[in-house]
Amino acid sequence: MLVFQQGGDYVWVDCSDGVQIGAEVLLSDTGQLQLIDDEGKEHKIKKDNSLKPMHPTSVKGVDDMIRLGDLNEAGLLRNLLVRYKEGAIYTYTGSILVAVNPYQLLPIYTPEQVEQYTDRRLGDLPPHVFAIADSCFFNMRRNRKDQCCIISGESGAGKTESTKLMLQFFAAVSRQRSWIEQQILEANPILEAFGNAKTIRNDNSSRFGKYIDIHFTKNGAIEGARIEQYLLEKSRVCRQAPQERNYHIFYCMLMGMPLDQKKILSLGNAAEYNFLTMGQCTTCEGRDDIKEYASFRSAMKILTFTENETWEINKLLAAILHLGNVDFEETIMINLEACDILTSTHFKMAAQLLEVVPNALDVSLTQRSLMTNRESVSKPLTSAQAVDGRDAFVKAIYGRLFVWIVEKINIAIYKPPPDDPKHVRLSIGLLDIFGFENFKNNSFEQLCINFANEQLQQFFVKHVFKLEQQEYAREDIIWKNIEFNDNQRTLDVLAVKPLNVLALIDEESLFPKGTDATMLNKMNQLHGKGDIYMPPKNNHDTQFGIWHFAGVVYYDSKGFLEKNRDALSSDVIQLMQTSSNKLLKQIFHNELSTTETKTKSKKRVPTLSGQFRQSLDSLMKTLTACQPFFIRCIKPNDFKKPMLFDRELCIRQLRYSGMMETIRIRKAGYPIRHTFDEFLERYRVLLKSKQRGKDICENVLTEEDWKIGKTKVFLKDFHDTVLELARDKA
Ligand code: ATP
Ligand code: MG
Repeated sequence: MLVFQQGGDYVWVDCSDGVQIGAEVLLSDTGQLQLIDDEGKEHKIKKDNSLKPMHPTSVKGVDDMIRLGDLNEAGLLRNLLVRYKEGAIYTYTGSILVAVNPYQLLPIYTPEQVEQYTDRRLGDLPPHVFAIADSCFFNMRRNRKDQCCIISGESGAGKTESTKLMLQFFAAVSRQRSWIEQQILEANPILEAFGNAKTIRNDNSSRFGKYIDIHFTKNGAIEGARIEQYLLEKSRVCRQAPQERNYHIFYCMLMGMPLDQKKILSLGNAAEYNFLTMGQCTTCEGRDDIKEYASFRSAMKILTFTENETWEINKLLAAILHLGNVDFEETIMINLEACDILTSTHFKMAAQLLEVVPNALDVSLTQRSLMTNRESVSKPLTSAQAVDGRDAFVKAIYGRLFVWIVEKINIAIYKPPPDDPKHVRLSIGLLDIFGFENFKNNSFEQLCINFANEQLQQFFVKHVFKLEQQEYAREDIIWKNIEFNDNQRTLDVLAVKPLNVLALIDEESLFPKGTDATMLNKMNQLHGKGDIYMPPKNNHDTQFGIWHFAGVVYYDSKGFLEKNRDALSSDVIQLMQTSSNKLLKQIFHNELSTTETKTKSKKRVPTLSGQFRQSLDSLMKTLTACQPFFIRCIKPNDFKKPMLFDRELCIRQLRYSGMMETIRIRKAGYPIRHTFDEFLERYRVLLKSKQRGKDICENVLTEEDWKIGKTKVFLKDFHDTVLELARDKA
């Protein structure tokens, strides 16, 4: 309890959002204290009020949250705020980096800064994303072990920018200035053109996940890279929410393409296309689509796309825009609802660009063939069905095109390891994946995305809490277990238990008679009694809920099966078989080859969630084999504005990322550990004599607060820094 506060003292006061706020004592006379809190609000409080004084570390803020005296949410939050106000957007929690999006260009990413952070120990200089990159690079070479960096945070928090900064650092320290480095850096403008879009949350939102694995020689020179992509949001190609845009590439192409080329593709302005105007927004403040198109074109050349390939890509993009402007008119055909295509230049251009006979395109869009008694009959489609079919076709073209482009980029940047068995390849992987999503309407895509986040959270939890505490027990280190929020039970219900939620969705998708309702029924029966899955409130409700680590999300089951089946109609596949467009045939190579061979044992096309789970499993395996680093990006406000810190928004992000528990365990724990031999090998230079064994480890360690286990030395992050610095000097 503080007896007396003077001007210049700092205290904690209660705040309406439930987390205490810092306040400065201005005056203390006439029995009253006048305070001004961090948000500039004045408080008048009676002097005898027992106010909690602020720990000195919280007044000015600290580089590493572990050093905070006020180790609670209020302390954490204020530390980030104080630093953010001074432009210090990076803060450590041990070796975990917290990055608050500054929403302004800071002068901290210059080549001089790269130089400064190169070959330094973590904590030596102020926290920085370059310091994490340098640590990855250093650890990779020191431990001869692959590294990975998991960059998480919600949309607009700064994941993609952090990834680019890490890449920039690696390219600089690789010191070759060679072609391959430039190629790896230039993959980004291409990926962003096709996979990023303006959303209400972020003007350059990545609508896909990616893992970039950078390969190094044992000397630390970049020798290649590989990019894995996850789950592009295809629906955006046909539909955009208010104030959002389609993928950047469309607007860039229409703005930047020379007129003669546009004429050949019969292209006009963005405003003329249904697929580009649904969000009532065709431009993006602060983005120059003409300039971006130029960068995109030059990147395509660097990644060895030929002029012809780029042209063929443009043709497909133009075909998509023309298809979006095709209109259907309701008609009646022998007592059945049907529709006709209103012939237009758009329809003709679409057929021409897809290189199919117009009549064949017409039939495949307005009719569906069905197999009855081994005979194929056609059924007319209503105009609404025709629109859905057209959209499915367009989404498939764009989705496959994206996958093909990433494969092409990989051909340019991936170098298979040479035959030489002595060749050592080390790697650093950067994961920039969609954050947790909870919208007003959540569908199948959100379930997949949130499932991915559950897996990454579990990886984090395992790494930071579970394995750590198990090891203390194994090594007989005295340790008081720290409670943490384990999300394993949610993962069990989603994907581990027999007949888990994802398995049920898949099962119903493969079952021809399965519907969203039968799927929901099964989920209710099997999981309705647990506390992770929440069945719909009544029989008419189609929404089910899942308790995720970041809160409850309600998903609307409508459309789940169709999205998961992700199947193209056989009519569209047949149409493509008649096409002479080589790129179109190439991107649908899988579908076309399975039907051409017409084998009886028809190969099961994997469902969307099946494919996604497979690629996630392989990602988790890769991550598990690496030494991980974590960057937690925080979005300070919803307005994309600099110098605006929304407390509630930040509290929420800190809470669900488990930052409090993380700090507690990092503060109490010993994240650096070496076996006795490893330790001696590396730090023997710090010793005078040539003894062996556990005692010597104790001799080397002069700082306090380390532990000796049965087989290992346990250290704090700062010991590592101290030892490495001493070793550098020795
Ligand atoms: P999404 O999940 O939507 O892809 P994200 O986490 O990848 O979001 P970014 O695209 O990296 O978010 O960042 C959003 C915007 O914030 C950037 O376009 C940029 O304007 C700004 N920003 C992020 N990080 C920084 C930074 N370090 N310096 C300056 N501006 C930044
Ligand atoms: Mg992004």
